Amino acid sequence: MKNTLKIIVIFITSIFLLTSCSDNKQKFVYPLWEGAKWVDDYYIVGQLDEQTYAISEPKNNWYYNTSYLLLGKDKALLFDTGYGSVANKDIMPVVKKLTDLPVITMYSHFHLDHIANIEKQDNVWIIDLPYLRERAKDNKLTLTTSETLLFDPPTVTVSKWIKPNEIIDLGDRKVQVLNMTGHTTESTVLFDEKYKQLFTGDLFYDPRLDYVDLHDDTKADLLVNSTEKLVATYNDNYVFNGAHGFPKQSYTTLTKYLDFLKAYKNKSLNSETIATSIGFQTIYEKDGMRMATPTYGGSITHQLIINIVFGLLILMLVVIFIRKRMRK
Ligand SMILES: [Zn+2]
Repeated sequence: MKNTLKIIVIFITSIFLLTSCSDNKQKFVYPLWEGAKWVDDYYIVGQLDEQTYAISEPKNNWYYNTSYLLLGKDKALLFDTGYGSVANKDIMPVVKKLTDLPVITMYSHFHLDHIANIEKQDNVWIIDLPYLRERAKDNKLTLTTSETLLFDPPTVTVSKWIKPNEIIDLGDRKVQVLNMTGHTTESTVLFDEKYKQLFTGDLFYDPRLDYVDLHDDTKADLLVNSTEKLVATYNDNYVFNGAHGFPKQSYTTLTKYLDFLKAYKNKSLNSETIATSIGFQTIYEKDGMRMATPTYGGSITHQLIINIVFGLLILMLVVIFIRKRMRK
């Protein structure tokens, strides 16, 4: 009986160690997109057209965040500030080198890898959703852990609330703000008719990256609906600039992505479960697209809590086991 217990403890401990240490990402050094150049030891910048820049963080293999700077005649709009702060980097000096115009900062959504230094920005425009507005006091909006995936989420000073579908005039360039839920509730997409492009955040990005990002499998329906809307409204005259990896994804890739999401929803995708540094993940792959979801179901926060409880339980068993051995 004692031996059985020993075997069980060793088995669970090894699984937990594997789960904590192994890394499911192949050590793949992601290439730079065409036209992009290093501007320091962390950021690369390239021009998508005469008034649009993409700023990427290729050193974060897992994330490879890409933020965008849209210039008008009078104002500039920065869409996301990236992952930088986690690596102690700041995108603003890069932005200042690219434009002298006053900069509005907007966010595709509030996940940690898009909001670096959000609390330090002085002209943040936030999508005007009733539940966010209600939470804000004197235009100070404290984000939540589930919104940011941060244990100590920041407080944003909101300079302006922008209604869904409202149009921002940057001066000879109009950008429409769309609320497209799925990846998150506040997920924001920018539509730029002048250059026939959309900035899609994490709703749709470079699918060659490891993750088609579905943090919460209960949101699959919303993600499919929003992607269907994109497919139905636009066509192959438009390009799609997502918040990870290469900009300028095509309409063809978008339709493939929709098929992939639908196949996931209909449970017709093949899958495998692997151990990663954030717990067990189920990986789905098809046509060069890849998606990871928490194997236990629910959100990534949910998964973290399960991992911690699981880890503590094992630790307790190990301690009991060692103390029993020492008493002998
Ligand atoms: Zn992201």
